Amino acid sequence: MPSNKPSTNQALWIKNPLAVFSGAISGADAERDLRGGVVVKGTTIVECVAAGQQPITPIDQQLDASDMVLLPGLINTHHHFYQTLTRCLPAAINQPLFPWLKTLYPIWSGLTPKHIELATEIACWELMLSGATTVADHHYVFNHALSEAIDIQAEVVGRLGVRATLTRGSMSLSQKDGGLPPDSVVQTEQQILDDSLRLTKAYHDASEGSMLQLALAPCSPFSVTESLMKETALLAKQQGVRLHTHLGETIDENDFCLQKLGMRPVDYLEHCGWMGPQTWLAHGIHFDEAEIQRLGAAQIGIAHCPTSNMVLASGICPTLDLAAAGCHVGMAVDGSASNDSSNMIQELRHSLMQQRLRYRADQITHHQVLNWGTQGSAAVLGREDIGVLAPGKQADLGLYKLDGLNFSGAHDPLAALILCGASQVNKLMVAGKWIIENGDDTRAQLNQLKAKHHQLAKQLVA
Ligand code: ZN
Repeated sequence: MPSNKPSTNQALWIKNPLAVFSGAISGADAERDLRGGVVVKGTTIVECVAAGQQPITPIDQQLDASDMVLLPGLINTHHHFYQTLTRCLPAAINQPLFPWLKTLYPIWSGLTPKHIELATEIACWELMLSGATTVADHHYVFNHALSEAIDIQAEVVGRLGVRATLTRGSMSLSQKDGGLPPDSVVQTEQQILDDSLRLTKAYHDASEGSMLQLALAPCSPFSVTESLMKETALLAKQQGVRLHTHLGETIDENDFCLQKLGMRPVDYLEHCGWMGPQTWLAHGIHFDEAEIQRLGAAQIGIAHCPTSNMVLASGICPTLDLAAAGCHVGMAVDGSASNDSSNMIQELRHSLMQQRLRYRADQITHHQVLNWGTQGSAAVLGREDIGVLAPGKQADLGLYKLDGLNFSGAHDPLAALILCGASQVNKLMVAGKWIIENGDDTRAQLNQLKAKHHQLAKQLVA
């Protein structure tokens, strides 16, 4: 298992990587030549070294990275960890969003604290092995047994040493109110608001280098009441936390909102006081041109989930239009029941391929998708201390060895990482600590966890 050693004040030079991506595709951070590597001290990057140069910082240790590609840690902006227990469920696969949800809700109503603990652990390891140093989760299923679901998740991410944004999700409209979920997984508005306040007070750390942040996240505008949407926005403002929900995922959703709420989703978002830079949306696909301009003017964040959107045939996110309008675009794997994998580096590959169906090949480069998965995702989560390799930023980084058959004969190592299909890091550092020192060894050490998780998954659907 990972050493998770505390970072020391020793200066470590990660020396001469095969290729480096800074996280940025424009501005001064994109211009810097980082092929000499980076120097890490304590929890932060203290120096970036140009190709062929020596660090100015006195060095205590060196790591020869000449056979590895160096990236800022990838940042996942949207997930549902519990869904790792319902991957590839025969009754749910091959369906669009609404019937898919109706099939799965009764199963999810049987989740227990042990399910949440192991599912969080599996999803985080899967993300970390693929290069993610920051994870976000949207947990909105609170049956009678799961009143402490977010507390469990907070314990797990703290134990693993991964940086996290946990969102307190909610559902208050069940089937009897015209919603999709059964009664057993919805809560009253007061229960939701009281618990949201308790959790933000207990766990939200807004400081630089924070390892855990909280956000408030009604599942979707069609699964909570209007008053809960409004009250959640007020509470988030009062507590200084961000707002998150699913929006613009399918055409069905637009029709549902028009029919039930009398307005389109973006109008409803504005009506409920959500249009501002504190909000990020999962998916963000089905907007008209005027709505894209309004979302951009409000500096809304978009968690772009290409794999899920392809699996559920939901549509193609207008990423470049949203970004041109002023939105922040970041990357996310979405829940494991609609992906069904939590591999961040593969998500970037899928984004490149999917987005080229909408935009020109020269507009969707490997640099672009790497930027969305790093600096873009950091902006979506409202963070300036991660997502870029630069002095003063958190030392969150991934190192990939291109030693698989799929890389043999590749010329540009950074492009190869995306185009040849990397899937696993060799090393992963979060806040200056090595969380993974050898990807292959770590994966082999997770067999026991995997067996327990798989057994619980079988029991859940039995
Ligand atoms: Zn989702």
